[in-house]
Amino acid sequence: MMKEYWNDNDFNRNMRRKKLKRHTSRGFTLGLCCCLTAMILAFGLTVNHIPPAVDKQPDAHLSKNTVANTDFDTGLTTDTQSIADETTWCLILVNKWNPIPEDYEADFTELANGQLVDTRIYPALQEMLDAARSDYVYPVVVSGYRTTEKQQSLMSEKIADYKSEGYSDTAAVSKAETWVAVPGTSEHQLGIAVDINADGIRSTGKEVYKWLDLNSYKFGFIRRYPAGKTEITGVIDEPWHYRYVGIDAATEIYNQGICLEEYLNKIN
Ligand SMILES: [Zn+2]
Repeated sequence: MMKEYWNDNDFNRNMRRKKLKRHTSRGFTLGLCCCLTAMILAFGLTVNHIPPAVDKQPDAHLSKNTVANTDFDTGLTTDTQSIADETTWCLILVNKWNPIPEDYEADFTELANGQLVDTRIYPALQEMLDAARSDYVYPVVVSGYRTTEKQQSLMSEKIADYKSEGYSDTAAVSKAETWVAVPGTSEHQLGIAVDINADGIRSTGKEVYKWLDLNSYKFGFIRRYPAGKTEITGVIDEPWHYRYVGIDAATEIYNQGICLEEYLNKIN
């Protein structure tokens, strides 16, 4: 059983490599992604790890996205381009001062509970979730990629909540923006950030957050909005929001107790 399990993961890794090369062609369309993401707007908790028999299944299967396999002349060989992509794509800075580039594109893998993540982070995410489970901690990805429309609807809901509590329009917007990123400025719109909570049965949120805090860097993820860095990140402490940056950057960020903005300032 375990052997098959790891084979599944290996399969996904191989697929990832193939897809990375295809990415260099920039030949796929955002439209395809939009079609797929329209199917996954529900937040629901995953059922993919319960009961234990299902626990052996990988968290995700490759999405049915197809990628136009057309190579454009980029002036770089595919391998060179891939290496450049490897070091830059996962260090993109998106925050309230740095919106997502309008031409941003990604390819997605769908998790078993319908959430989408950028295909390039899926193997590391899978390994991290597996490692947590081997420590008897049971995390669940409750939110991955979000469309602009989804982000807008989250914002509208939050504003409505504050208005119903008696806040003025302006105050409600301002309060909502401390909780929900303005559309175009959420890392969830990249697909390389995930909100992770507990399954609520075998683990508590506190247990999951603690495990992630201590171990996520080993898999290339960082706690993106740590307590005490709000003035720099623009976001309050969010112990559930993890962002992929690659193992090297994540390790340095973890060891130095800095946030992504501080790390990028140092290396640039
Ligand atoms: Zn988040």
